[in-house]
Amino acid sequence: MTARLLPGAPAAAALLADVAARAARLPAPPRLVMVRLGDDPASVSYVRGKDRQARAAGLESTVHALPEATTQAELLALIAGLNADPAVNGILVQLPLPAHVSEQAVLHAIDPRKDVDGFHPVNVGELWAGRPALRPCTPAGILFLLDHYGLPVVGQRAVVVGRSHIVGRPLAGLLLNRDATVTVAHSRTPDLAAVTREADLLCVAVGQPHLITPGMVKAGATVIDVGINRVPGQDGGKAHLTGDVDPAVAEVAGAITPVPGGVGPMTIAQLLANTVTAAEMQAGGQGTR
Ligand code: NAD
Repeated sequence: MTARLLPGAPAAAALLADVAARAARLPAPPRLVMVRLGDDPASVSYVRGKDRQARAAGLESTVHALPEATTQAELLALIAGLNADPAVNGILVQLPLPAHVSEQAVLHAIDPRKDVDGFHPVNVGELWAGRPALRPCTPAGILFLLDHYGLPVVGQRAVVVGRSHIVGRPLAGLLLNRDATVTVAHSRTPDLAAVTREADLLCVAVGQPHLITPGMVKAGATVIDVGINRVPGQDGGKAHLTGDVDPAVAEVAGAITPVPGGVGPMTIAQLLANTVTAAEMQAGGQGTR
């Protein structure tokens, strides 16, 4: 048996079509403002990609590219201005920040109603209370992908490997809100294979190439590989990206996301969806469940 492949591109396209339709129903195009400090190449490239896709989806997008030496007080003053500006619907501060700026202070300063990354403690609390709010992009994108491919969540035995604040924890919360039976495994979980073999739905967000091998997966399970690992090419060849799941797992699983091209495309699409949701909420609507 070879697993059904779950590419992200068609699901992301469906989500972006919905984003464009919802944006067109608002009185003005939703505005996303992104802030980045310094010239870290990965951050520059991520923000550029988000900016380009936002514009392509019919949103307004502004990037504040600030010098590395920007002080925390200067950054907080900028955020306060964006919070107060009714023309700004979504605010994203690209992480990581330089060491002299407290990530926590910055994330806590963003108005929760404009927190399109879903990292503010108010939004984290709303997620775990099962109330509508803005949700972290990668986990929310994964739920959209599962729904897009008609894969069941309700009543499934779900195992999330990884407990980061960006992926593992919020993904566990979203699955629980959708009535899955959820286990979270992590670096201190003894006998990981015994836990992962229980999963009908196995989601892996660790950052270790091919941590999950075929013997760790139940036959027919749905496997969501969040990992993005850059591995050097063999014999001096080009480096390439690979996931946390050994591709041989496709011989056991029922469905599996590829890396690259699986979960990756969902994250930016969901950021734009969150920006529209934020604009709708600010116009009196509800957030997402
Ligand atoms: P992180 O480093 O913050 O967290 C990793 C988690 O894995 C930790 O909770 C840790 O307990 C767990 N872990 C480490 N070793 C383990 C082991 N041997 N067994 C079980 N658990 C173990 O990472 P993150 O930010 O959650 O990212 C995880 C991966 O997902 C990375 O490869 C990252 O690049 C990728 N990622 C992809 C997207 C996307 O859009 N596709 C978004 C975010 C992160």
